[in-house]
Amino acid sequence: MTGRSLNLAVIGRQGSGKGTQAATLADRLGLHHVSTGDLLREAAAEGRESADVLRGYLDAGALVPDVLVSRLVAQALRASERGCVFDGYPRTLAQAELLDRLVDLDLVIELRIDPDEAQGRLARRRTCAGCGQIGAAPSPTATLVCDRCGTDMARRDDDDLTAVRHRFELYERVTVPVLERYADRGLVVSIDAGRPRDAVAADVLRAVHVAGASDLVPAS
Ligand code: ADP
Repeated sequence: MTGRSLNLAVIGRQGSGKGTQAATLADRLGLHHVSTGDLLREAAAEGRESADVLRGYLDAGALVPDVLVSRLVAQALRASERGCVFDGYPRTLAQAELLDRLVDLDLVIELRIDPDEAQGRLARRRTCAGCGQIGAAPSPTATLVCDRCGTDMARRDDDDLTAVRHRFELYERVTVPVLERYADRGLVVSIDAGRPRDAVAADVLRAVHVAGASDLVPAS
């Protein structure tokens, strides 16, 4: 690692908290947070990229075609100066091969979580349509109001049980081989994500530090 530019990927089963951890890490290190899920939801909401077709993939929890995802990533890369934290990308071998041609990944952080625990988290996850904040309802059926802007928070369309099962199946079948590919190169550090958010974040930061990016990691 040169310390000039740092590229990290956070990969984990749905419900592992990769979005939260990737955002926190990017913020701490001053890196660009590239969440393909967010980029795709934004494109669908703004009516770009054949929005209806895109929404169909997203709501079903299906993988969006590589060519489309890669186009959004290439655009996002232009906005990165010091490097990126990739969140939810790459999740197919084809995407990993393309990313190899764009940047050198320094570290891949695998967030490990028990599937039942992850499923429970997704059932309680709520998103604010007003400000985008993510929260956890006390139970799968409970409602939640955003404590930041007062808007009713909603369940994500792809967090229903059928879509969650499909997303889990894709994770095992399509994304785990991506992790194995990076593990063969010695790039993967696995972290137990079934613990409180701050404990996981501390371990993630430590892992980046141990991997040699100490000049970029602020002292805690
Ligand atoms: P999660 O990983 O919990 O499913 P994300 O917000 O990362 O949540 O992704 C939501 C959806 O966006 C995915 O189910 C998929 O439809 C699409 N998506 C995100 N990233 C990718 C990707 N790298 N390749 C293909 N589809 C993606």
